[in-house]
Amino acid sequence: MASIELRQLCKTYDNGFQAVRGIDLAIRDREFMVLVGPSGCGKTTSLRMIAGLEEATSGDLMIGDRRVNDVEPKDRDIAMVFQSYALYPHMTVRENMAFALRLRNLATAEIERRVTEASRMLTLDALLDRLPKQLSGGQRQRVALGRAVVRNPQAFLFDEPLSNLDAKLRGEMRSELRALHARLQATAVYVTHDQIEAMTLGDRITVMNQGRIQQVAEPMTVYDWPWNRFVAAFIGTPAMNFLPGRLVAGTDGPAFLLNTIELALAMPHRDRLASHSGSEAVLGLRPDHLILGPGPRGSRLPAVVHQVELMGDHQYITLELAVGGPRLTMKTDPHHRIRREEVIDVGIDTTRAHVFEAGGDDAANLTLPPTLTRQP
Ligand code: ATP
Repeated sequence: MASIELRQLCKTYDNGFQAVRGIDLAIRDREFMVLVGPSGCGKTTSLRMIAGLEEATSGDLMIGDRRVNDVEPKDRDIAMVFQSYALYPHMTVRENMAFALRLRNLATAEIERRVTEASRMLTLDALLDRLPKQLSGGQRQRVALGRAVVRNPQAFLFDEPLSNLDAKLRGEMRSELRALHARLQATAVYVTHDQIEAMTLGDRITVMNQGRIQQVAEPMTVYDWPWNRFVAAFIGTPAMNFLPGRLVAGTDGPAFLLNTIELALAMPHRDRLASHSGSEAVLGLRPDHLILGPGPRGSRLPAVVHQVELMGDHQYITLELAVGGPRLTMKTDPHHRIRREEVIDVGIDTTRAHVFEAGGDDAANLTLPPTLTRQP
């Protein structure tokens, strides 16, 4: 297996569009790295450059100790699994899995050994003589995985491999992929726009936007400490709420002025906000940082309920604070009977809130642990 390193990697397409704008990324040996971001952010282009299916415009691409920019895809010793499965329709499962090995002139006994082992691992043994059209979507994707596994490559590259499957099957395949990775101990790079897949699969996540890396970290670090407003908004469902206001010096340390209401801030690194006193800022609140009734520091803000969405084990309340600002989403226990148009008291748990600079996607999170870096 091998590490993969991208150094100042850029891709400008022939029409002049800059899809990848100088990314540095070190993927460790045996790591499961997920590239996640909205459609068009450059994640597939990055993956295709690693695979050699797309030529890098500039920068270096290393697999292990080898610079592979000029190495043919077939000589890079990596296997790619696509969303579309890309199986040969006229070949059986067994033939599909053996095909790449035959091209490499492996001995028949060795091919058989590898196909048998991979089909056992992926519970395809009973399906070896079927054609792809005789398989379900999930089974086809397992064959596509099998075709990659038999090659015993240095690294696996996955391009949205589960997006053609229904929600239940996607969940099952996610666990299978994790188990497969643990078993093969292989380096894996996995592209998805689905943040749930990113959170559940990745040892680490690389969040991308507009051809640039926004943050690289373990899933819970990205969730708990989003580097900027883009990451904060992209990771987490429903998305984080953002309330514009101003930082002020409160009686008990930094506070956030929301129109006329002063909220005492209680997050761990609030002392970092002292130098921003007087500046416009944005308070970031996940739906579970809003609570019914008074908040931990006595915050109690009247709000009008616009919508109630029951989810079974919880409910989402869309509301608007009486002091104004955008609509917010709150997560609560579904047994609190709340109706549309009702006026309720909302507390704000500022022990877990974030404060961002005023501005757009790049606006920095001002309440991060001082030791955190954008990417290690
Ligand atoms: P998706 O999830 O939609 O596949 P992505 O993050 O994988 O998105 P890429 O496929 O890497 O995005 O594309 C990045 C950008 O480059 C997009 O804006 C896309 O339109 C553009 N792009 C991709 N291929 C080409 C091409 N051959 N020529 C010009 N522009 C391209």
